Amino acid sequence: MSNGYQAPRLTDIGYIRDVLERHGFHFSKKLGQNFLINPSVCPRMAEACGATPESGVLEIGPGIGVLTRELARCAGKVVAIELDDRLPPVLAETLAGQDNVEIVQGDCLKLDLAALIAEKFGDREVSVCANLPYYITSPIIMSLLESRLPVTSITVMVQKEAAQRLCAQVGTREAGAVTLAVQYYAEAETLFIVSRGSFLPAPNVDSAVIRLTVRRQPPCPVRDEKVLFRLIRAGFGQRRKTLLNSLGSAGYGKDMLAAAFAAAGVSPTARAEQLTLSQFAALADALTE
Ligand code: SAM
Repeated sequence: MSNGYQAPRLTDIGYIRDVLERHGFHFSKKLGQNFLINPSVCPRMAEACGATPESGVLEIGPGIGVLTRELARCAGKVVAIELDDRLPPVLAETLAGQDNVEIVQGDCLKLDLAALIAEKFGDREVSVCANLPYYITSPIIMSLLESRLPVTSITVMVQKEAAQRLCAQVGTREAGAVTLAVQYYAEAETLFIVSRGSFLPAPNVDSAVIRLTVRRQPPCPVRDEKVLFRLIRAGFGQRRKTLLNSLGSAGYGKDMLAAAFAAAGVSPTARAEQLTLSQFAALADALTE
């Protein structure tokens, strides 16, 4: 930099330990605090989320700001939500001079994100990019999708096993209720794997960066989404049982189910993992009539 100022290297373990110690910070396992120390990951995530000088990025859990700073380089504006109130003073130091970054202290699962996006980003196109706290990966992803936030994509680091489930092919053993729920709202893909050694402290498992490109319209619209998701949860909740049995124990009468299976053209002896999203949708519509 021309004025001689050197931005701190946020992937440098020596610097991280120093800044955290000066702020009296200790990692909280409970809050899923594993900070990235692999310098190649954040630039790839920032590029993958499609940030441009005109767009905005919503980050969840900035930690000490390693990804935040990379996002700020690519995007017009970055808003980062951090639950841990010990981190904003650290971020004030690590992100000094980043005028296009705003930190919001709060719980991403409790904040009104639609109102926040409208207030902070106005007309900008917005994407989500984050190294998610692993203890709440699925609740965060599902709440972002279900609330139909005006975001174009969600590029997030999750545990490798979670990535396999979220991006699984329907009909495979990895597929679960969350796979179909995600498919309803987005197109999911795994972008790259990140080894456990890329974090401080190192977690017990590897991670993966996934991207969910949000659909404008669901691939198979249904009369009542609640019914669709109730069926998916009930079916996968007892995935070894036939659908006739698993949905029966979810409160649907046998006669009603038999008629719905016939109307939807689905075999009552099929198991949840054998059904596509559109077959679940047809079943849901038959049960909504
Ligand atoms: N982005 C940083 C990085 O890549 O090094 C930190 C990622 S760390 C895996 C997850 C971050 O999410 C932590 O900073 C943690 O304090 C924060 N966090 C945990 N629960 C949260 C919640 N409910 N809302 C917002 N942030 C949360």
